[in-house]
Amino acid sequence: SVPQVAIVGRPNVGKSSLFNWIARRRLAIVDNFEGVTRDRMTTMIEFEERFFELIDTGGMGIEDPDDLTADVQRQIEMAINCADVILLVVDVQTGLMPLDELVAERLRGVERPVILVANKADQDHQDIHADEFHRMGRGHLQTVSTTQNRNREDLLRLIVERL
Ligand code: GDP
Ligand code: MG
Repeated sequence: SVPQVAIVGRPNVGKSSLFNWIARRRLAIVDNFEGVTRDRMTTMIEFEERFFELIDTGGMGIEDPDDLTADVQRQIEMAINCADVILLVVDVQTGLMPLDELVAERLRGVERPVILVANKADQDHQDIHADEFHRMGRGHLQTVSTTQNRNREDLLRLIVERL
């Protein structure tokens, strides 16, 4: 069957934006509010004749916006259960947050390729701010900007190399 690629990360880092940007279609709901209830979204992606199913797990079944740990835990469980490759999304503009470290911590024992996607690097000079994420100690780091359309092909190449 088709390899599965799951997007995980704390609320508001741009997981749904990343999903839509990779898909080049507005499928997942992007919002400015944290912890809105949404269903899991999936879509088929083709890149250079390779196929994978992309999954946006964010906000999955979250009932209590204050209980972000439970939300993150659900994402991780889903990723562990079905993902062949995990996209761990962080935000270069806010920098490393405790919840990012929690996600990285939960993924530590997961033996699947992880790509650390440093989103919101809207301008070249913001790439340098991604360096601090190296201490999450997990996966290849790729800066992107979904709003400025930066590094989409680089990210897709990294994904298909790991399928
Ligand atoms: P999610 O909660 O992780 O799914 O995040 P969303 O995709 O809903 O996005 C949260 C916010 O970040 C929205 O206001 C997006 O417009 C914004 N956002 C997403 N990607 C980028 C980006 O590359 N640059 C900037 N500046 N903002 C972004
Ligand atoms: Mg989302």
